[in-house]
Amino acid sequence: MIPLREIVNYLEGLAPRALQESYDNSGLQVGDPGMEVKGILVVLDVNEEILLEAEKLGFNLVLSHHPVIFGGLKSLTDSSGPERIVKMAIQKEIAIYSGHTNFDAITGGVNTALANRLGLLDQQILAPLSDGLKKIVVYVPHAQLEKVRQAMFDAGAGHIGDYDQCSFNSEGEGTFRGSEETQPFVGEKGKFHVEKEIRVETILPAHLENKVIHALLNAHPYEEVAYDVYPLTNQHNEIGAGMIGKLEKPLTDLDFLKKVKDVMKTGVIRHTKLTGEKIDTIAVCGGSGSQYLAAAIAQGAGMFITGDIKYHQFFDAENKIVIADIGHYESEQFTTEIFCDLLIENLPTFAIHLSKINTNPVNYY
Ligand SMILES: [Zn+2]
Repeated sequence: MIPLREIVNYLEGLAPRALQESYDNSGLQVGDPGMEVKGILVVLDVNEEILLEAEKLGFNLVLSHHPVIFGGLKSLTDSSGPERIVKMAIQKEIAIYSGHTNFDAITGGVNTALANRLGLLDQQILAPLSDGLKKIVVYVPHAQLEKVRQAMFDAGAGHIGDYDQCSFNSEGEGTFRGSEETQPFVGEKGKFHVEKEIRVETILPAHLENKVIHALLNAHPYEEVAYDVYPLTNQHNEIGAGMIGKLEKPLTDLDFLKKVKDVMKTGVIRHTKLTGEKIDTIAVCGGSGSQYLAAAIAQGAGMFITGDIKYHQFFDAENKIVIADIGHYESEQFTTEIFCDLLIENLPTFAIHLSKINTNPVNYY
């Protein structure tokens, strides 16, 4: 058995909650972080049937994509589905953890699962996060340079694409004078001091700012550490919404749509007018992705595959792209496989099951 806290920390190390959308409620929904987990049931949605399935398996953690507590609960009676589910989970001592839009946002998450299923190559984030990166600059005496720099790298700074430990280091002189209350690491209190220092600058994901600063302060020898954090407008190419990629060889929009219907096992695809032309660039966004249509058009996608497109939104295709609404559930159904793979990678001998229950509330006649 493993403490729930460890599983939560692992999942949030992969997809920090700071990456979730402002309207979302990802994270631990029900359960005590100190409880021992016996087994994990992986699902897209939680309902009472799912809790019974977990109980039957002897499992006490349900890992879902969609949060059961979303708009907030004001009471715990039997008057709504989420209230009944939460109450039942508490009674049965089953924890619920949800990895929602934070898992939409990461490479290797929901949209990677969808893009992989469709065989897309050269995958890139469709709408990269534009305020997800910061720069940190710190001034370090020569002797402590490696220790301080490495501490920042270990805390998650210095990643650019497939490179890590990226930094720029320039020499200079730092000056300071400590008051009578100080105990300066170099120089004497009350006296002006000049010290040869290195200016170290590196990049970091915005959500790791506190962690990197904490590591830097711990490793730095000075009483008062001079450091600056700058917001960047660079795109964060590994985090954001949707995914765009290429087909192995161009297909007509109809042929690709046939493939999508088959691979995604969807009952029906609602789509805009087909042109019969060959397409090779496909954009996808699991769940409700209409807000990323403009990004898909701007990047030259021939088709945009998502769910929850409304009638008037279909007009926005304007013959520039084919919009294909394959259904919210269908577009996210393989997310559970990603969850399972990630868990098995970290807990290879642990009891982890994919639920056999279809929780899609939409039926096709
Ligand atoms: Zn969804």
